[in-house]
Amino acid sequence: MTMSAIKFFSTNGQSERVDFRGALLMGQAPDKGLYMPEEIPEIPRSLIEQFSKMSYPQIAFEVIKPYLGDLVSDSDLKAMLMDAYDYDVPVERVYDEKYVLRLDRGPTCSFKDFAARAMGRLVQHFLRAEGRSILILTATSGDTGSAVAHAFYGLDNVKVVVLFPEKEVTDRQRRQMTTLGKNIFPLAVQGKFDDCQALVKQAFVDPELSALNLSSANSINIGRLLPQAVYYFYAHSRASPKGGRIVFSVPSGNFGDLMGGLLAMKMGLPTRRFVVATNENDEFPRLMETGIYEPIRPSKNCISNAMNVGHPSNLARLFSLYGGQMDETGHVGRQPDMEAMRKDLYAAAVTDEETRQTIKEAYRQHKVLLEPHGAVAWAGLLKYLKQCGDWSPCVSLETADPAKFPDEIVRATGINPPLPEAMSRLDELEESFERMDGRYASLKEYLKRFL
Ligand SMILES: *Cc1c(COP(=O)(O)O)cnc(C)c1O
Repeated sequence: MTMSAIKFFSTNGQSERVDFRGALLMGQAPDKGLYMPEEIPEIPRSLIEQFSKMSYPQIAFEVIKPYLGDLVSDSDLKAMLMDAYDYDVPVERVYDEKYVLRLDRGPTCSFKDFAARAMGRLVQHFLRAEGRSILILTATSGDTGSAVAHAFYGLDNVKVVVLFPEKEVTDRQRRQMTTLGKNIFPLAVQGKFDDCQALVKQAFVDPELSALNLSSANSINIGRLLPQAVYYFYAHSRASPKGGRIVFSVPSGNFGDLMGGLLAMKMGLPTRRFVVATNENDEFPRLMETGIYEPIRPSKNCISNAMNVGHPSNLARLFSLYGGQMDETGHVGRQPDMEAMRKDLYAAAVTDEETRQTIKEAYRQHKVLLEPHGAVAWAGLLKYLKQCGDWSPCVSLETADPAKFPDEIVRATGINPPLPEAMSRLDELEESFERMDGRYASLKEYLKRFL
């Protein structure tokens, strides 16, 4: 039996529709929009109820398969997912039926491993079949770069150039990118994450670079988004095995993580509400309050550094999901259905002060070790429960290992978080990377080497 693959349209509405393979290898649509599935497949309730007895890779197969149709055989897809998800995904009880979902057990100890590892394998699968090669150009606020670099490390038909803001990543985050070598090329940019992202976007539409076959591995790539729907199903199956509706709290920067959750909801996952927790880059909470979108430029430096995003790319997708339209600059072409958005989403901005206090209190009261991103989510959840009444079950996403932020954790708890195996050798390895000023001409010069 053949299954027709779902088509993906661009949120800017000017590009042709493509299948998953096209969207994956292209990253951003030619009109600078983001790809969205034209229809969202529904997972039958009876299947969702069986998830509590299934492993993570098995659930991943059921969630991702409907988007691929016949583009990948069942056996290949299963093998890729088994290989990608060979680590633990703890659903840790904090109190009552309030849980923390630990998405930090992959090779780079951040939730970005979930997306990058599936994407890397899918890209390799398609390229191998075609004998093609590509250059992945990606901007990182700290964790994307290392997750992507690890996921693509050593593949012979892919090169990876990672731009990171030199002064905004921690030593360990940098080392996770700069100690690999081979096909991984890290670039330290004098500027902010938003600058890195703008440079990347400009390169994508530069005709003089088209021979490079540039592709993106940012959360704007649909190949990263779909795998991020999976852990919501997984967490629900563990925290709510009887199938009841659940509250998720999502620490949000570029809003890729949240979009994964909303896709899961549209696919039929029983959810009550999503808490969208941001740091002091509160453009989204303000939008929810006022209906007016104003990017924060420049973005603010908060301790949850992977969330220092003043204009989240994935808002274009969020708007699209609620009937609105936003272009890549943040210009709103059509207002989304704010009422529907407010029904599904509860936005909360969390200050650095509150983040530190939350790390401290979660440890003191519950002996749970959170790092700044997970603490933003937990603080957002507590605000929600206080304002909207208690609800169970709730799952708050913890997106990085506390050992990535030892200074903050020690200060708040007195505990020096144990270094996970995957990070324990970083300090001994030699680093290799180049520095670049924030001008596009410099990036272009650098990329031309690969032509
Ligand atoms: C990237 C990142 C986030 C934010 O995720 P988005 O998909 O960009 O909203 C949160 N926490 C950590 C640790 C991250 O690396």
